[in-house]
Amino acid sequence: MKQPNVFEDSLTRLEQIAEAAGVGPEVVAALHQPKATQIASLPVRRDDGSTDYFQAFRCRYNDALGPTKGGIRFHPNVTIEEVQALALWMTLKCAVVGIPYGGGKGGVTVDPKALSRMELERLSRAYIRAMADFIGPDTDIPAPDVYTDARIMGWMTDEYQMIKRVKAPGVITGKPIALGGSLGRDEATGRGAYLITKAWADRTGVRAQGTTVAIQGFGNAGYHFARLMEQDGYRIQAVSDSRGGIFSADGLDMEEVARIKAQEGTVRAVPGVESISNDELLRLDVDILAPSALESVIGGWNVSRIQARTLVEVANGPVTSEADAALEAAGQVVLPDVLVNAGGVTVSYFEWVQNRQGRSWSLEKVRQELAATMTEAFEGVWSLVEQRGVSPRSAAYTLAIERIGEAIQSQGTREYFSARPKSLPAEPVVEVTEEVEAAVATTTV
Ligand code: NAD
Repeated sequence: MKQPNVFEDSLTRLEQIAEAAGVGPEVVAALHQPKATQIASLPVRRDDGSTDYFQAFRCRYNDALGPTKGGIRFHPNVTIEEVQALALWMTLKCAVVGIPYGGGKGGVTVDPKALSRMELERLSRAYIRAMADFIGPDTDIPAPDVYTDARIMGWMTDEYQMIKRVKAPGVITGKPIALGGSLGRDEATGRGAYLITKAWADRTGVRAQGTTVAIQGFGNAGYHFARLMEQDGYRIQAVSDSRGGIFSADGLDMEEVARIKAQEGTVRAVPGVESISNDELLRLDVDILAPSALESVIGGWNVSRIQARTLVEVANGPVTSEADAALEAAGQVVLPDVLVNAGGVTVSYFEWVQNRQGRSWSLEKVRQELAATMTEAFEGVWSLVEQRGVSPRSAAYTLAIERIGEAIQSQGTREYFSARPKSLPAEPVVEVTEEVEAAVATTTV
């Protein structure tokens, strides 16, 4: 079965939920397209002296609530539609947890595993040369996402500061601690997902002991989620990465799996367990399934075979809108991405606050503040679930759309932007310096 265009699908879901919640069409219209998306071609010198070109994107989706915020993904399947869908979800996510950010996202269509360390650094710096006038600590603030990490954020921050000739650590979050990164940022997405799962379990009377879990994706988000769930007493029966999965009915040892993954590059190298495919992992008869890798892994083509009673969306967008409806009809609960994985952007926000204050918080303070933010967001969503009898996703979207709508309405009528007199020069969406223009071919759509 053909997979839906992920951006169109994200809009379909937004429209359906907004209509059911009675949200005004003007807010949906405002969220129907991104404010601006920059596309660039990044020339990267390979170690053998040749040059390859990689397509790069940065989308600033909506900034009604604050500067746009969202990670940068390096993956061979990155497309403009994917980046725009992820940026829309970031817009909703920041609103759900009540942090003063809009939503953005970036990506490069590249297989980073096929690049040497030096090539990866040149690619990361080329990305910033292309986007330096599109991002900024008060406008658009990137962070890590799939196949990008603190080391890459460090190179990117350095490149930005060299281009702008300023120290501006608040331009990027998820940096190495030595460059102004925050303690606790590495574990934040997984910890946030764990806190939401725990809040839901406490509220619904689920006990950790005897509850089985399968986790697709054992990267930054999936690993920390798995580790904390195991610590709490949940039995992690299966995990996977891009090469496939492993299963043990008695439960896997997360520390061992992480050690072997670090040494061998895949969870598949763990001895004495059953090998399974990523598809098989999704179909396991477990209590909790946590897709923690990529989007659109559960859709019309496989939803009827999903047996898990509860799905925890640690990844962004793992369930399509069609599958959402089928799961709801079957009584399977989905804890939605815009709530579950918001811990990452929350601690990114804390990092940005620390950078602006020129101070650094203790790990204890970061964890306390994260727990307070996630608990409050969960309570807000869950009270709507109970009051209106809607799904957790509908409740989270409704909260977000209402908050964004209030900000849009408070802005008044922006005729300056929507009906610009012809006599005024065109509003430059992106300023590209000569130096940057010479280095990269850029297009703004
Ligand atoms: P990561 O690069 O650290 O890890 C990605 C993991 O997914 C790896 O284990 C990889 O092997 C696995 N993977 C890749 N392709 C796969 C496939 N086809 N099938 C199964 N597994 C596959 O990335 P991450 O930061 O952990 O991001 C994972 C998800 O969490 C993404 O949806 C991302 O947008 C979301 N997320 C991440 C953060 C963050 O702070 N890192 C925040 C919010 C949401």
